[in-house]
Amino acid sequence: MPLEIPGATHLHSGKVRDLYTYGDALLMVASDRVSAYDFILEPGIPDKGEILTRMSLWWFDQLADLVPHHVISTDVPAEVAGRALIVERLDMFPVECVARGYLTGSGLADYRETGAVCGIPLPDGLVDGSRLDTPIFTPATKAELGEHDENVSFEAVVETVGAPMAERLRDLTLAVYGRAEEIARERGIILADTKLEFGARPDGTIVLADEVLTPDSSRFWPADRYQPGQAQPSYDKQFVRDWLTSPESGWDRASDTPPPRLPDEIVERTRDRYIEAYERLTGLTW
Ligand code: ATP
Ligand code: MG
Repeated sequence: MPLEIPGATHLHSGKVRDLYTYGDALLMVASDRVSAYDFILEPGIPDKGEILTRMSLWWFDQLADLVPHHVISTDVPAEVAGRALIVERLDMFPVECVARGYLTGSGLADYRETGAVCGIPLPDGLVDGSRLDTPIFTPATKAELGEHDENVSFEAVVETVGAPMAERLRDLTLAVYGRAEEIARERGIILADTKLEFGARPDGTIVLADEVLTPDSSRFWPADRYQPGQAQPSYDKQFVRDWLTSPESGWDRASDTPPPRLPDEIVERTRDRYIEAYERLTGLTW
């Protein structure tokens, strides 16, 4: 399935991205694949890979004074023009560094069960979408293919990377979230949470890696429709989810049959949403 790209050797494919070695560096390719309810849907969303790649690049730039990033160049092979980045090959920390400013998803599930998220106690009475008084660091460990990431305590991160490094990863994650949340808020978008990955250079420098602050790694909610106590509309995939769960799709989410093919209109409207998110956030024109 992975593309043949001159000079690149396929290394790994995730749900939506493909990773290649490229000389001493890596080539990170974003496809147009889109996932919902843990299924990769057909067809892809045209230009999604390029939109998310540009968004990620824009964010790396906004954050450059907080933390160095892994991007070396956007001068990539023609086969993947616009939707790939050449990045430094880092020694990755085996921690999904998540920051949450709002309670939802696995954080909400954790809270309902234990009154805490990743061992961080939270006040009583919070609901789906509640804004937290202060954003929290809720690390997770990377799951095997097909499994969900597992939330872990800060102590578990300390055991994995040592206390000084765990503290640095936490502080960097919260700093990045704080900056990005503010930028998004000024543009009418709530950044509910985000997942970051960091790696180390041979000299020990901590570098921000992977993709950053895209709708695939973060929850973006339209601020004008924010209403705690229910699932918030998702900025990007709402049309996809609404259609899949509507009678029109004929799909039973409880069954384990794969969802049906998305109609053209849903694909088109979803593409418009990605473009809108890109334009609103960056102020640039697609
Ligand atoms: P999922 O689809 O659930 O995200 P995945 O994480 O296995 O699955 P990708 O996100 O596509 O799939 O994988 C990208 C991989 O590249 C991750 O394992 C990530 O840690 C790794 N990675 C990102 N940046 C770098 C880098 N600069 N150096 C080395 N590895 C990196
Ligand atoms: Mg990943």
